[in-house]
Amino acid sequence: MKKVLITGAAGFLGSHLCDKFINEGFKVIGMDNLITGDLKNIEHLFKLESFDFYHHDVSKFVHVPDELDYILHFASPASPIDYLKIPIQTLKVGSLGTHNLLGLAKAKGARLLIASTSEVYGDPLVHPQNEDYYGNVNTIGPRGVYDEAKRFQESLTMAYHRFHGLETRIVRIFNTYGPRMRLNDGRVIPAFIGQALRGEDLTVFGDGSQTRSFCYVDDQIEGIYKLLMSDYAEPVNIGNPYEISILDFAQEIIRLTGTDQKIVFRPLPKDDPMQRQPDISRAKSILGWEPKVERGEGMKLTYDYFKSLSKEELQKSDH
Ligand code: NAD
Ligand code: UDP
Repeated sequence: MKKVLITGAAGFLGSHLCDKFINEGFKVIGMDNLITGDLKNIEHLFKLESFDFYHHDVSKFVHVPDELDYILHFASPASPIDYLKIPIQTLKVGSLGTHNLLGLAKAKGARLLIASTSEVYGDPLVHPQNEDYYGNVNTIGPRGVYDEAKRFQESLTMAYHRFHGLETRIVRIFNTYGPRMRLNDGRVIPAFIGQALRGEDLTVFGDGSQTRSFCYVDDQIEGIYKLLMSDYAEPVNIGNPYEISILDFAQEIIRLTGTDQKIVFRPLPKDDPMQRQPDISRAKSILGWEPKVERGEGMKLTYDYFKSLSKEELQKSDH
């Protein structure tokens, strides 16, 4: 049985990756310090012999007794309000955490895939963003703690690949959504759906002309799996190129939820990227991957998930 270590296992993407690898017949070892994750996301796996869990901060030395074939490093705060609240941990998990996992991969002879992000492109001056674009990041701005940690993570990973011959993969993930996102994590989809369900106004930041392109989680997980199994070491964008402005998206959510909430405008956070759309030519040609789930369908599945949460969970809000 092949063995995979997944860091950030109790988070949104990490928990879906655990499910995917269990379904593919792997022994899965999950690791998480629960700083933004929730054990509820993986509690259905605890009864399985093919699943183990370590409660551990990967910015500290990582020890796993098992042999490992693959490591997926997904531990990191991932939403702007999280990484603004815990900036130092964000920098540490991208730098020290990545260093620990690269060392572990080298010791075990495992292949390591790191979760990078469209944020390495910052507030992009090139549109859509392809992997050859170097980005436009404000190193000392509030988002810099995340963006620069991820950029350093990529550099360190490529150094291990070139210098030690380690097998590495780098996925640049664009905005991904679906069940198990934290309702109060501040990201736009849980924020808008939570507001609609609580009967609150939808808070659009700025004038809402900034754009994002949203990828459903099942498509994202399939892309990550294909990249891990490929022999391609350079970064690959995985995301859905279908772009929408945040104002149009708020209106779409009002229609989806059948509520008559108003839209209210709030100040745009500093360095909020104005346009974001992945160029996925590389993923198409190298992995034969492209997203399949349309936004309408993915949003319906996501809305059903949030609707099924208890009243107490729904009331938890950071806004
Ligand atoms: P998430 O917050 O739901 O999950 C992150 C998990 O990592 C949490 O369970 C958290 O407790 C854990 N964690 C954080 N620091 C840790 C540490 N030091 N040690 C151990 N565990 C730690 O976020 P997510 O959306 O699932 O994101 C997962 C990864 O994907 C992150 O690396 C993120 O940067 C990347 N990513 C996600 C998106 C997206 O749209 N979801 C986009 C780009 C990149
Ligand atoms: N956003 C918004 N209202 C909210 C939360 C977010 O208008 O209540 C905007 C935010 O300013 C950004 C976009 O939605 O332009 C996506 O934000 P998110 O935090 O989901 O992701 P990121 O900025 O990291 O892409």
